[in-house]
Amino acid sequence: STTVPNIDGSLNTEDDDDDEDDVVDLAANSLLNKLIRQSLIESSHRVEVLQKDPSSPLYSVKTFEELRLKEELLKGIYAMGFNRPSKIQEMALPMMLAHPPQNLIAQSQSGTGKTAAFVLAMLSRVNALELFPQCLCLAPTYELALQTGRVVERMGKFCVDVEVMYAIRGNRIPRGTEVTKQIIIGTPGTVLDWCFKRKLIDLTKIRVFVLDEADVMIDTQGFSDQSIRIQRALPSECQMLLFSATFEDSVWQFAERIIPDPNVIKLRKEELTLNNIRQYYVLCENRKGKYQALCNIYGGITIGQAIIFCQTRRNAKWLTVEMMQDGHQVSLLSGELTVEQRASIIQRFRDGKEKVLITTNVCARGIDVKQVTIVVNFDLPVNQSEEPDYETYLHRIGRTGRFGKKGLAFNMIEVDKLPLLMKIQDHFNSNIKQLDPEDMDEIE
Ligand code: ADP
Repeated sequence: STTVPNIDGSLNTEDDDDDEDDVVDLAANSLLNKLIRQSLIESSHRVEVLQKDPSSPLYSVKTFEELRLKEELLKGIYAMGFNRPSKIQEMALPMMLAHPPQNLIAQSQSGTGKTAAFVLAMLSRVNALELFPQCLCLAPTYELALQTGRVVERMGKFCVDVEVMYAIRGNRIPRGTEVTKQIIIGTPGTVLDWCFKRKLIDLTKIRVFVLDEADVMIDTQGFSDQSIRIQRALPSECQMLLFSATFEDSVWQFAERIIPDPNVIKLRKEELTLNNIRQYYVLCENRKGKYQALCNIYGGITIGQAIIFCQTRRNAKWLTVEMMQDGHQVSLLSGELTVEQRASIIQRFRDGKEKVLITTNVCARGIDVKQVTIVVNFDLPVNQSEEPDYETYLHRIGRTGRFGKKGLAFNMIEVDKLPLLMKIQDHFNSNIKQLDPEDMDEIE
C-alpha cells in the first residue's frame, strides 16, 4: 500500500486497518474523561503542599462559605450541586483567592476538581463592569476549551454580565471588533494571534492567567513556546495558575519556567494493585482456539460485565463479529470512533446497558469502570519490541485497593506467548493460574 507522509514527517500507511492502535491521544483521552465523568474522584492520599513562603500560615477550608465569595458565585456553586470543597480545593482555593494573589502549580488526576477550582478563581476576580478581557485560560484543544467554558457558564450563571469568549481556530472576529468579554478561553496559537497580531486582547490587563492540562499542552508541538510567549507579556501582578493531571519531569520543568514563585499542590494518584484480582490463563493453539476458550468461559460462569482487550484494531473487529454471529450482545469501542461516540458507548456500559465491551489498549486508557468484574486479555499487552507491557497489564486488570472490588482476569495465551505471561507473573510477583477451559469449576 502507498505511504503518505504526515505533517510531522512521520509515515502512515493508507491501510491503517490493522494499525497497532498505539498512538495515545492525550487530548482526546482528557476530553473523553470529561464527557463521561459526573462526579468527583476519591483519593485516600493526603494533599502535599509546598508553599513559596514556608513561614506563612497554611489555610484550608472545609466549606465554601469560609471563602467569602460573592453571593452570586456561591449561589452558582450550590446550583451545581457542590456541597463542600473537594480534597484539592480545600487547599487550593484559599491560596488562589488570597490577597495579594498567589501563583499556583497544582497536580492531581483528572476528576479531582481542578477545573472547578480555577473557574471559581477566575469568576471571583472578574469585574463585570469592566468590558475587556481580564482572565485568560489556555487549553490544548478546541473541545477542551469549550468544556471549560461550559463550567464557567454554569458556575457563573448568577454572575450577570460576565461573559466568555473562545479564542479558537474558526472563531472569526471581524476586523475592528473590540473584545468586551471578560473571560477568554483558547488554544495557545489562536490566543497568541489575537494578542500580538490582531491586538484583540491587551495582555497587560489580564489579572488571572490559567494554563490548563499542562501535560497535554507540552505534548503538542509549539504549544509550550507559544504559552511562554504569552506569559512573558503578562503584568507581574497577574495571578498565574497551572494545572496538570500528571507530573513527569518534563511537565515540572515547563511549569517552573512559566509560573514564577509558585505554591505547589500535589495529590498523588490512587495506586493500582493486583491484590484482589484472581488471575487465570488458558493455553490455546491459535486465534480460533482463543475464541473457543472465551466462549467456554462465557458459558461456564455467570458474567456480570466484562471488558475484552485486543492488541490490534483488526483483532478487536474480528472478535466482535465472531461473537455477534454467535448471538452474543457485544459492543466495540474502537479508535476509529469519535470521542463523542466513544463516550456514549462507555456511558451505556456504565449504565449497564451493555454487558460486554471489546476494545484495544488505547481506547480504554484512563477509563475506570468500577462495576466490571471480569477482564479478558484476548491478546497480552506487548510493546514494540514484543516485550510484555507491564504498565498496560496493570492498567487493564488492576484495581485501586480501597475503592475497587474483587475481580477476575483471564489471559488467552498462544503457546509461544507463554514466556511473556511468565514474565508478567514474575514482574508482579503474583500468581496466574492455568485453567482448563473445559472445566470451569476450578474458578468458583
Ligand atoms: P478536574 O478538572 O480535576 O478533572 P473537575 O473540576 O472537572 O475536575 O471536577 C470533576 C467532577 O466533579 C465534575 O463533574 C465537577 O462538576 C465535579 N466537582 C468539582 N468540584 C466539586 C465539589 N466541590 N463537589 C462536588 N462535585 C464537584
